Amino acid sequence: MRHFSYSRAESIDQAVATFSENQHASFLAGGTNLLDMVKLDLIRPELIIDVNRLNLNQIEVLEDQRLKIGAMVTNSILANHACIKDKYTVLSEALLSGASTQLRNKATTGGNVMQRVRCPYFRDNTSMCNKRDPGSGCSAIDGFNRSVHAVLGTSDQCIASHPSDMCVAMAAIGASVTVTGPSGDRDINFLDFHLLPGETPWKEFALKEDELITHITLDAPIEGARSTYLKLRDRSSYQFALASSAAIVALNGNTIQEVRLALGGVGTKPWRAWEAEKMLQGQPANIENFEKAARIAMQEAKAYKHNAFKIPLAQQAIVRTLLNLTAN
Ligand SMILES: Cc1cc2nc3c(=O)[nH]c(=O)nc-3n(C[C@H](O)[C@H](O)[C@H](O)COP(=O)(O)OP(=O)(O)OC[C@H]3O[C@@H](n4cnc5c(N)ncnc54)[C@H](O)[C@@H]3O)c2cc1C
Repeated sequence: MRHFSYSRAESIDQAVATFSENQHASFLAGGTNLLDMVKLDLIRPELIIDVNRLNLNQIEVLEDQRLKIGAMVTNSILANHACIKDKYTVLSEALLSGASTQLRNKATTGGNVMQRVRCPYFRDNTSMCNKRDPGSGCSAIDGFNRSVHAVLGTSDQCIASHPSDMCVAMAAIGASVTVTGPSGDRDINFLDFHLLPGETPWKEFALKEDELITHITLDAPIEGARSTYLKLRDRSSYQFALASSAAIVALNGNTIQEVRLALGGVGTKPWRAWEAEKMLQGQPANIENFEKAARIAMQEAKAYKHNAFKIPLAQQAIVRTLLNLTAN
């Protein structure tokens, strides 16, 4: 057993200062991912800084109608907040599709954004994994790469898919992540927060190691839009997405006035389908256009031995969400 020290931060300043004084520290929020990783010996923090007492659990509508969510707001509270259910339905549905009630009661907004991949080779210390052990290789590329492996944004160093449902909805909505560290506060565009694996798969976040997420601010809801999240998986609960689609659509008659589309389960990061959105903008809302958009969304996809089925699956998820949103 490895020993570590535990410290409970009473203020944001104290959390950041304590972290910067220790080389091998980790912040502890709900612990549903961090403690798993410690137990699996994937990470070896010498100090765990508990941030549960920080005053970061508010949800607040700002004057410009954006929504500010504290990093310690739990997934359950967020999913069931009246404003989220009403104006950001896609986010509520995505959160409720994740994990289990017990996990959502503990899991926090900041922790969800920072959760690590579920690739079995990453989670098994005896396998090669460039994310866990830079330069060791990737056992997934020629291994059993079916359910938690991506077809978009992969590299010859890593093909693990991003596991979060919440983040897919946030990628569709648009958001910024506010972080604080020894050199002060800064905002990171949500779409830039998760990094593609490229040649450096061990670098997963735009956040510096000693920075703490304080809150996430969602873009204002689109006037008159409807939104939804569809998650396809091997069993209907307590399972990560094989493919998922987060869609937001505002219609003018039968014409698509505004559309946002993001995908989960298929990308190495929460995947915004920009080209598909562009194609749909100003077009009639019909199945032909939805199928065309779905093909465009997946045109760059690269399948591996066991996950080619994800390409048509993601396309069907896109079509289904768009049909659901535009049906009378
Ligand atoms: C069995 C199981 C099933 C799951 N199924 C799903 C699923 O279907 N869909 C899904 O989306 N997720 C799923 N999850 C993942 C779950 O959502 C995450 O474990 C959870 O969101 C992490 O939040 P946490 O507060 O527990 O984070 P922690 O475990 O406390 O922390 C996770 C990471 O975030 C860092 N961190 C935490 N807070 C901050 C902060 N404020 N600033 C900087 N760093 C921070 C920690 O240091 C750590 O590295 C599942 C998890 C389990 C165990």
